[in-house]
Amino acid sequence: MADDPGPLTYLASTRARAESSLLELMRFPTVSTDGAHGEDIRNAAEWLVAHLQHLGFESAAILETEGYPAVTATWHKVPGRPVLLVYGHYDVQPADNEKEWILPPFAPVVEDGFIWGRGASDDKGQFMALLNGVSAYIQTGTPLPVNVTVLIEGEEEINSVHLSDLLESEAERLSCDAVVAADSLMLDRNHPVILISVRGHAFVELTVTGPQTDLHSGTFGGSVDNPINVLARMLAALQDGTTRKVLIPGFYDDVIELDQAERDRINSSPITDELGIALTGAPELAGESGYTLAERVGSRPTLDIVGITGGYTGAGKKSVLPSTAHAKISMRLVPQQSVEDVMEKLRRFLLALAPSTVSVALTEQAGFGSPPAAMDPASPWIGAASLAYEVSHGETPLLLHGGGSEPMVGLFQGRFGVPVVMPGFGLPDDGNHAPNERMDVELFHKGAEWMVAYLETLPQFLG
Ligand SMILES: [Zn+2]
Repeated sequence: MADDPGPLTYLASTRARAESSLLELMRFPTVSTDGAHGEDIRNAAEWLVAHLQHLGFESAAILETEGYPAVTATWHKVPGRPVLLVYGHYDVQPADNEKEWILPPFAPVVEDGFIWGRGASDDKGQFMALLNGVSAYIQTGTPLPVNVTVLIEGEEEINSVHLSDLLESEAERLSCDAVVAADSLMLDRNHPVILISVRGHAFVELTVTGPQTDLHSGTFGGSVDNPINVLARMLAALQDGTTRKVLIPGFYDDVIELDQAERDRINSSPITDELGIALTGAPELAGESGYTLAERVGSRPTLDIVGITGGYTGAGKKSVLPSTAHAKISMRLVPQQSVEDVMEKLRRFLLALAPSTVSVALTEQAGFGSPPAAMDPASPWIGAASLAYEVSHGETPLLLHGGGSEPMVGLFQGRFGVPVVMPGFGLPDDGNHAPNERMDVELFHKGAEWMVAYLETLPQFLG
């Protein structure tokens, strides 16, 4: 770094400004999940356009979608060189559980070494860090080794529902050779992580219907089938209670088994049962037999019942035989599994299980599936990202399979066939999607330093 101190010196001297810009952005309650914040989201998009111009980017503009707008900008000064697209999302999760927020979610502050407020870590702080890194090059007149396109979307928390359309309609403007997206976590302060895959997500609601209306359980109990009893038996049939294997026929057909070298590599990471218990407070961990925790997290598919309703659930006793019962089923899928294929196998299995005493319906919410996606860890874009962490954080990052789902990864891969590089600057206790979200101030600035290092290391890998 010593031979080119420009961008880093700039970052060091503009820290206060970088923090106050992030706080400004966090004041917009850009909650995309409940439909009540359309104006706040548009105001934030307009603020971002002005901010991107202020950072030195060109062609900053709002990109309309059928839902919430995205924001784009460019810095294309090296014709013939690859285009790196910097991705982020400015929408946030709701800030419910009001009583649990010690500080108000949309009146952010910097205190005790943290930036506090909704969106601090997911994802406003993380993408602003990437932008600050690029801006440090632009503002100091340091030549960038690649062309940069920015895309900040406003619908990530609602499954990026219009991103596919946007990549199609704005294909020329958004086409790129690689994507960098910082929307994930380090294992802890000393262990940065680059994700090399994300799991897919299949989600479905199962409804079992028996009698036309609720019935008196004394008069009809034992003669008319109870949808809750039936639902419980059907759900129990989905998973083996001992091995925790999913019992849907063909569920594992397309799952790629890790080879021994990959298993050894994953198991050398500090993801242990002790860590899992410490992070969750569960008395003991549970999961698919034959796999360690580190292997299960991102490399094995799962099935979980994530919600059940039916019957009387108020206080006291009211014994009614319900007309319907519902369960929400969530499956996390791994590369080469397909959402549609697994969903079809689940549908066939459940319909075959259902007795003729009830009717069964499976409802998928359109646009809410997310495909699994894997990156080639040998990609030069990932090699440079890894070396950049050594420069900025002084640590070699772990290349891990992510447990979560990010539709954008599969969408960019599918549309442009490009690698998606996923560094993360957050910490596991940042409170993403939970009360009292925060981001470590130092890690916010380190994120910008990582971006500077990434731009510096890229030419060694790209030639
Ligand atoms: Zn996010």
